[in-house]
Amino acid sequence: PAAFSPEVARRDFPILHRTVNGHPLVWLDNGATTQKPRQVIETLAGFYGSANSNIHRGAHTMAREATEAYEAGRAAVAQFLGAASPDDIVFVRGTTEGINLVAQTWGRANLGPGDDILVPVLEHHSNIVPWQLIAKETRARVVPVPLQPDGQIDLDAYADLLSMRTQLVAVSQASNVLGTVPPVREMTALAHRYGAKVLVDGAQAVAHFPVDVQDLDADFYVFSGHKLFAPTGIGALYAKPEVMRNMAPWQGGGNMIESVDFTRTTYAPVPHLLEAGTGHISGVVGLLSALNWLTSFDRDAIAAYETSLMAYAQQALATVPGLELLGSAPDRIAVLTFTLAGHDPSTIADWLDRDGIAIRAGHHCAQPALAHYGLESAARASLALYNTSEEVDKLVASLHRLQQAA
Ligand code: PMP
Repeated sequence: PAAFSPEVARRDFPILHRTVNGHPLVWLDNGATTQKPRQVIETLAGFYGSANSNIHRGAHTMAREATEAYEAGRAAVAQFLGAASPDDIVFVRGTTEGINLVAQTWGRANLGPGDDILVPVLEHHSNIVPWQLIAKETRARVVPVPLQPDGQIDLDAYADLLSMRTQLVAVSQASNVLGTVPPVREMTALAHRYGAKVLVDGAQAVAHFPVDVQDLDADFYVFSGHKLFAPTGIGALYAKPEVMRNMAPWQGGGNMIESVDFTRTTYAPVPHLLEAGTGHISGVVGLLSALNWLTSFDRDAIAAYETSLMAYAQQALATVPGLELLGSAPDRIAVLTFTLAGHDPSTIADWLDRDGIAIRAGHHCAQPALAHYGLESAARASLALYNTSEEVDKLVASLHRLQQAA
């Protein structure tokens, strides 16, 4: 892979060269979505300009080409996640859909009265609510795993909560609100001792550090392409082959059947069983392009750069009077969630926006995590590989001006 430099990577992103409110854009809302390199944008235009076709049906050249591109995307995702086979990958709309799919198929078949689903308090709503929905139907329980003050999962409490009743642990590999990177590998090993399955939400992890689902020993792993420099509307679900093989169909329709008859319908094998209807073909092609772009760099160098940028940002933000950062666990991705004395988070976001700086304000779809700090809302700057220390300086200078103006 090529040596990594943020300045070189930035050149690939046309949007980073626009202005907002008369200032060069400073995009610090990467936790919500990342920007797209021109390689991905050109791939999408190229697909619709010269390659568009449905797949798996119709024996013509372009259907074959589209099918090959789609399956190449599946193979690339498998490789990216360290999965043993492309057959372990199901394309979904994103993390949310992947989790709902697991809840509605695996969950419906495996959960029953008195079963526990362990969910850390720091999870995104999309890793809480699907479990609440299926727990209500199956009379299982969703059990919150508490947080320590620093934002790390309370691992002693986790060990105490695990029991033979535990069917599933659903945990994110990186938190979107505190940036916490829990020891998922160790948590998984412990869960497996009780025969529980583990679903890992990789939405915030995949863009930041290399992932190996087999090393994690995760039973399920989900992520969204749009947080990984790929288009919206496409993501992937990994399941261990022995787990996936036993999953019942979710949605019914084309592509997921072998033969349909009013007396007896038979199904296609997984992963196609779980992909009813026409998939997001251009999305898969775009995701493939994004993976090719990202993996053309040394990913350990990207992670090291982001860690140093995070340390720089933490120090710089600490100089702003009245600013408090949430979470202080040492293992974190570059997510800086903060409050500023005298200003509510939406005022902070509006002020920064006038300087062309995009951050997010609100509950970040993680209300229980914020409630842990007694908050309903906070401001969040989330960094990506193309952000620079100059951009962090602009954020900090703008916050200083806000405090002076007050
Ligand atoms: N989990 C985490 C940790 C997230 O950060 C997000 C996106 N904010 C999601 C799940 C949901 O992802 P999506 O909206 O792309 O389905």
